[in-house]
Amino acid sequence: MNRKILAKNSTQTDKVAIAASVLTAAKKDNVFFDLPIGEKTTYRAGGSAAIFFRIDELDDLYVLSHALWQSSLEVMCLGKGSNTLVSEKGFSGICCALSDQFSYIETDKNDLTLTCGAAASLPQIARQSAAAGLSGMEWAVGIPGSCGGAVLMNAGGHGSDTATVVGRMDVFDLAGGQLITYQRDEVAFSYRHSSFSGREILLEAVFNLVPGDAQRSLVEIQEIVSWRRQHQPGGKNAGSVFKNPQGISVGKLLDELGLKGFRHRSACVSDKHANFFQLDTGGRSDDVLELIEIVREKVVRETGIVLEPEVKLVGFENLQ
Ligand SMILES: Cc1cc2nc3c(=O)[nH]c(=O)nc-3n(C[C@H](O)[C@H](O)[C@H](O)COP(=O)(O)OP(=O)(O)OC[C@H]3O[C@@H](n4cnc5c(N)ncnc54)[C@H](O)[C@@H]3O)c2cc1C
Repeated sequence: MNRKILAKNSTQTDKVAIAASVLTAAKKDNVFFDLPIGEKTTYRAGGSAAIFFRIDELDDLYVLSHALWQSSLEVMCLGKGSNTLVSEKGFSGICCALSDQFSYIETDKNDLTLTCGAAASLPQIARQSAAAGLSGMEWAVGIPGSCGGAVLMNAGGHGSDTATVVGRMDVFDLAGGQLITYQRDEVAFSYRHSSFSGREILLEAVFNLVPGDAQRSLVEIQEIVSWRRQHQPGGKNAGSVFKNPQGISVGKLLDELGLKGFRHRSACVSDKHANFFQLDTGGRSDDVLELIEIVREKVVRETGIVLEPEVKLVGFENLQ
């Protein structure tokens, strides 16, 4: 296929127009312009994506790959938005998201495997696998993300994480325009990190579990849910804002620095768990980013520790 020649002085508007023409020519009903994506995150704040593209099937990813190749636009994938903060300015590229076609959860007691579409919800994965007598995913019940977001982030808690249980991963590489299957040892996972590039879209993951007792797993799940209710705030947040440096609990550190309840405009440090930053209803995502910067600066000044955000920042300039 020929590539349209992008003029050296192409503007963002030109690039959006090129991508729009490729996407709408192939999948008109899946393309949305200036769609508010901040509302799709758990902060429920922030701006729009220039283009939002819904992925219903594999073919859509070939179309998207072609649109990116033609336009040189940036792309991001949005899962359940529970680890993402979108700036008020929004995202000037293409935001893609998997539709419910990718929400399936299948258990196989003979193989001891759990096969999930990347849009499947983690709490549902935890409950469904437990009820089927497979153990190993109970920890995921309190994490309001998707299977794809969990693999990308190596989400975890309660003594386990995604890297411990994941096996095969089917990924579409938007840069190369091809489907790739990875085995667990081909991907580098570390604490809240995986080696996938921002242009690899996870489509399906297989988890290797162990035989369990449904009743016992469901009790464990209930205990995790109660623990979370007791120790973590509800409302508008994205879980832990910063990664815990080796051997340090950021929640405890911020508490010791007297930051619990600290407010910056419409955002504040939770007084229940200091590594959770809450946003008021109708608040601005930019206030959360400013709070992140203020807290980070205070921590460096007073302890010398440079905190790394765990939350994915979309449409912001780099942190100072
Ligand atoms: C109340 C609360 C509690 C939380 N507790 C925990 C916890 O205990 N442990 C923990 O690890 N996290 C926790 N989180 C954070 C969050 O839920 C996890 O990181 C989760 O895995 C993110 O999934 P998501 O679908 O919401 O991802 P999103 O926020 O939508 O995206 C996060 C990243 O994953 C990428 N991504 C999403 N889907 C795909 C895909 N299909 N293919 C490729 N990339 C993709 C995005 O591009 C982005 O880079 C918590 C969040 C909240 C709000």
